[in-house]
Amino acid sequence: MSQFAYGAPPPPPATHEKPTAAAVLAIIGGVFIFLGGLLELAIAAAATATVCAFGGAYCGASGLFLAIAGAGVLIGILTIVFGVLLLVRPGLHLVLGVLVLVFAFISLVTSLIGGFVIGFILALIGGILAIVWKPSPPPYAAPMGAPMGGTMGAPIPPASPRVCMKCGRMVPADTKFCPHCGNALG
Ligand SMILES: [Zn+2]
Repeated sequence: MSQFAYGAPPPPPATHEKPTAAAVLAIIGGVFIFLGGLLELAIAAAATATVCAFGGAYCGASGLFLAIAGAGVLIGILTIVFGVLLLVRPGLHLVLGVLVLVFAFISLVTSLIGGFVIGFILALIGGILAIVWKPSPPPYAAPMGAPMGGTMGAPIPPASPRVCMKCGRMVPADTKFCPHCGNALG
């Protein structure tokens, strides 16, 4: 505790807050959409080969099917990327959440039954969670080195280190005597 000596600047509050649940759902959903797209791509490729062997107008139509399936694969990959970005850039959770949501709906059309439906549902929930996600406010009440009732005037939470009334130095909350001057703490 000596590094938190009186007057020392407080360490920056560690913000490890991330929309983890939203990101994980988007990533897993993206994997399903990607796999659904791959399967559809394989079916489309087989269909194209079969239809185009006979020639005619249906050959062009199956080519479109192939392109849509390819887009489904791309959408799966992008949904995974958005999920990863949610962890890297939590501040962009709103725009990333909207993108995941939009791509989830596009996957219903492009990817085989929206990535086996489960991919669509996971990405949908992930997108909504990302949009509504809010980092909880940091437990910042007063600077660590500020004396009780200092300029901030903010109350110090009971779990945080206190200030010895005799010597004015920071003491851990769970000690009965000041480690600096031995003063009995109330
Ligand atoms: Zn003391």
